[in-house]
Amino acid sequence: MITTPRLASLLSLLSLLAAAGWLLVAGGARHAARAVDDVLTVTPATARVPQGGAALLAIRAPRATAVRVRLGETVHPADARGDDRWEAVIGVWMETKPGPLALTVEADLDDRTLTAPVALTVTQRAFPIQRLRMAREQAAKYTAPSVQEEYRLIGAALRRFTAGRAWQGSFQRPAAGRIATRYGTQRYRNGEKVGIHKGIDIAAPRGAPVYAAHAGVVTLRRDFGLHGRTLVIDHGGGVAGLYLHLNDFGVSEGQTVKRGQLIARVGSTGAATGPHLHYALYAHGTAIDPLLMETMPAGW
Ligand SMILES: [Zn+2]
Repeated sequence: MITTPRLASLLSLLSLLAAAGWLLVAGGARHAARAVDDVLTVTPATARVPQGGAALLAIRAPRATAVRVRLGETVHPADARGDDRWEAVIGVWMETKPGPLALTVEADLDDRTLTAPVALTVTQRAFPIQRLRMAREQAAKYTAPSVQEEYRLIGAALRRFTAGRAWQGSFQRPAAGRIATRYGTQRYRNGEKVGIHKGIDIAAPRGAPVYAAHAGVVTLRRDFGLHGRTLVIDHGGGVAGLYLHLNDFGVSEGQTVKRGQLIARVGSTGAATGPHLHYALYAHGTAIDPLLMETMPAGW
């Protein structure tokens, strides 16, 4: 090391300062400032979420390179909104146990991961039971070999995560009519328990207009044997909408749609007892009650 007279005097000044404790103080202040920066704060839109509802999380995570939400065994990505802000929409499946939800947020910094538990309580709801009679040839559509492929394609479209949500505020009901079957209805078909209804059925005449519940991109448009003519709209941020039994389509795959845009007409294609729209909303692949998304908390 070549020491010029000027550098030598600077070095001796530094050692004097160190002896006086100045550098220790400066180092301590820098350490404290970093600790203040590395805060992960999570603010749920509501403190309580009903079974079948969505937990909306506003997250502040300065310096984070990735943020995710852990719900029990599953992990979902959070959506970056800029300025250290992230957000996540988490679906609370209707069979989730009432009480505190096992939900944590994790933020990756350059050198470590911060974890914050989220204080959210799941509240209990009562879900109806429905007994359906269906003609044997209709019921046979549920066990056709092609059904697994339908479920695979629809499931993949509904679980897809696109960063940056295209929607803000409430979802609109996509068709006018009586709600024939609610979300969460326990269904018996020809006397046999066949599962839980994951969306709402809106009774409407064949040809009645179907509108996009919110803005998004059409990610699936198929004519299936069981689900009938099917559309999936990716709304971004992990939320997707499903429309089944359509008579005909008004949009194509890959098309961007606005909230309230005409996308299809009501039908009874696939396994259906009559013309109706099956409409469902999913958050990271979990079916949530679309009626609850019609009244979003302020700021969403
Ligand atoms: Zn349905």
